[in-house]
Amino acid sequence: MLAAKSKRFFKKALIKTSILRAASRFSPPAAAILAYHSVVENPDLTDYFLGASRSLADFEKHVEILALKFSPVTIAEVAAFAASGRPLPRHAVAVTFDDGFADNHDIALPVLARFGVPATFYIMFNSVETGTLPWYCRIRFAFHTTKIPQWTHPQSGRIYNLTLPGDRQDAMQSAWDRGAALTGRVQDEFIDQIERSLETDPTRAHADHGLMMTWDQVRALKNAGHTIGAHTLSHPNVSQVTPEEARHEIAGSKQKLEEKIAQPIEHFSYPHPALNPHWSPQTLQILKESGFQSAVLTTPGPVRPNDGPLVMKRLTVPAHPDQFTWNLQVALLGH
Ligand SMILES: [Zn+2]
Repeated sequence: MLAAKSKRFFKKALIKTSILRAASRFSPPAAAILAYHSVVENPDLTDYFLGASRSLADFEKHVEILALKFSPVTIAEVAAFAASGRPLPRHAVAVTFDDGFADNHDIALPVLARFGVPATFYIMFNSVETGTLPWYCRIRFAFHTTKIPQWTHPQSGRIYNLTLPGDRQDAMQSAWDRGAALTGRVQDEFIDQIERSLETDPTRAHADHGLMMTWDQVRALKNAGHTIGAHTLSHPNVSQVTPEEARHEIAGSKQKLEEKIAQPIEHFSYPHPALNPHWSPQTLQILKESGFQSAVLTTPGPVRPNDGPLVMKRLTVPAHPDQFTWNLQVALLGH
């Protein structure tokens, strides 16, 4: 029974693969950009505040697959392809990381080095500068660990019953929605207020781990040949804040990172903590004026020659290596 089942599975997989091969001969050129956040030994231990971590074991397989079956390229190469159609090798894939978690340096870097795969690390300036978890992680931590039975939203006044999982999830989402539209000090105060009202201790979320990179670690990534990019100062949704705030977050993170890294910062990743859309014609204009050469979105999809370098789509990364390969193959067909 099992044998017959697995035979059917392999037959299906074979058919799928040969269809993909045939289709790839006729498909227009496309590139893929992978969006990682963090790579840890055991995601189960950190997922309640980091979210979207991949395990070291899966990441090693991903990078090996990239090195063997695809053409790893830099974000600048994909940007040139998106801007003017400059040719890329077949099956070109760029690896990116958002936020600036310490595991990018401690765990991902040695794997990338072993397989010779380049990556781009988009740094959320304030978190690395202060060693504090990004605010959206602090909210996740607060709502997952609080023992307080109910929470009143400070703006809407709605009362959430935190003993009900659905209500707890809604409360967390409403806090993310609010935080995504705030920047800087006002955002800090909002997050502090949540931690106070939920009686959670934010140091517990990062004291043991040293979760953000230090500037020396960011410079080590640069010195290893990887690209450093900007991811704003305080991680708002830049299309949901005022134009002045968006300009400060976008241009300010470029300038401050350049001072820390001592090289031009030309690549940007749009934070997308909550709310839609996460970019607009106005943010596009600000990116241009600030001198960025490329920007990546969280909108899923491949990059095609005339997409434009400031609105490049990315792929979220499935954990399982087979799914990883399949998603890339499908994306590179342009779907
Ligand atoms: Zn981010």
